Amino acid sequence: MAKYNTLLYYCYSTIADAEQFAADHLKFCKNLGLTGRIIVAEEGLNGTVSGSVESCKTYMDTLHADERFAGIDFKIDEVDEPSFVKMHCRYKSEIVHSGLRDPNMINPQKQTGKHLEPAEFLAMKDRDDVVVLDVRSNYEHNLGKFKNAVTLDIENFRDFPAMINELAQYKDKKILTYCTGGIKCEKASALLLHEGFTDVYQLHGGIIKYGKETGGEDFEGKCYVFDNRLSVDVNSVNPVVISTCLNCGKTTPKMINCANPECNEHFTQCDECGTAMDGCCSDACKEHPRKRVYDGTGYYVKVPQPVNTAKKGNLQLASLEQE
Ligand SMILES: [Zn+2]
Ligand SMILES: [Zn+2]
Repeated sequence: MAKYNTLLYYCYSTIADAEQFAADHLKFCKNLGLTGRIIVAEEGLNGTVSGSVESCKTYMDTLHADERFAGIDFKIDEVDEPSFVKMHCRYKSEIVHSGLRDPNMINPQKQTGKHLEPAEFLAMKDRDDVVVLDVRSNYEHNLGKFKNAVTLDIENFRDFPAMINELAQYKDKKILTYCTGGIKCEKASALLLHEGFTDVYQLHGGIIKYGKETGGEDFEGKCYVFDNRLSVDVNSVNPVVISTCLNCGKTTPKMINCANPECNEHFTQCDECGTAMDGCCSDACKEHPRKRVYDGTGYYVKVPQPVNTAKKGNLQLASLEQE
C-alpha cells in the first residue's frame, strides 16, 4: 500500500470570486497537510497536490461535494514520498496560459472537441482519415509522444494559436488532440473548432489516463510531468526511447533542469554527461557563479530567482505551467 498519493486534475467551471477562493483554498490545503500547486481562475481550477492517502481522499471528497467541481476526474498516482515541497494556490486569469482569454470566443464549457476515452482514442488513432495532434511544447514531445503524431515547434502553449495556419492542411481530417492531462486540449480543440475545423476530438484525461487504462500502447518515450518526478513511464506494451542527450546525442530517457538557475532549461541528458557537465546544458551554464549542486536528479526546489529577461519564458514555464 502506498503511503502517499499525488493527484492531478483540472476543471473548467465558473468560479465567481476566484481570488478569494484561491486564498481560502490555500488554507484548506495547508490544513490537510498537502503540498502542490493549484491555479484558480474565473474559468476553473488546475491543480496537482500530494499528501497522505487519507488527506488526498478528504481533498477529493470535499471538491466532489461542491457542485461546481462534482465532475472532476482526479488522476491518482501512488508515490513513496510527496511530490512537492510547498503548497501554492494562486489566482490567475487562465488555468493554463494560452492567451485565449476571451470566454466569448473560446469557452470549453460551451464548445470544445469531442472527448474520447483512452480505449476509443486507441481504436481511432491509426485510421487514414485521422491526424493525431500533440498540442504540447518542444521539451515535452522531444521526451515522448504518440507514434506518428504531428508535433508543433512551440516553446509554450501560448504559442499554439499562432500555429493554426500550419494545421490548415489537415482541415478535412479528423483531428485527435492530446496533451499531458487533458487541460490544454480543452482550449486547443475549442480553438480548432472556432477556426473552422469540423471534426475535432480530444483525448480525455490525456497521456496520463491513457497510460493507466490502455497500458500506453504506441506512446513512444516518456511523459514530461510538472513535479519532482520530471517524467513518468506511460507505455508498458511496446515501449521505446526516442529522446537523445543534448550533449552527446546518445539515446537517453532522462529529463533534467539545467543547474544554472537563470537558465533552468528542460532537456534530456545522459548520466555520463550529467556528471561531466554538473547537470548543465552548456559550458556557459557550467561556469555560472550561482550554479546549483547537481545531485543526479536534475530537479531543484523552486526558490525565487532574479529574472533574466532573456530566459524569462523558461523560468515562468518551469515554475508555473502545469497540468
Ligand atoms: Zn550524453
Ligand atoms: Zn543551461
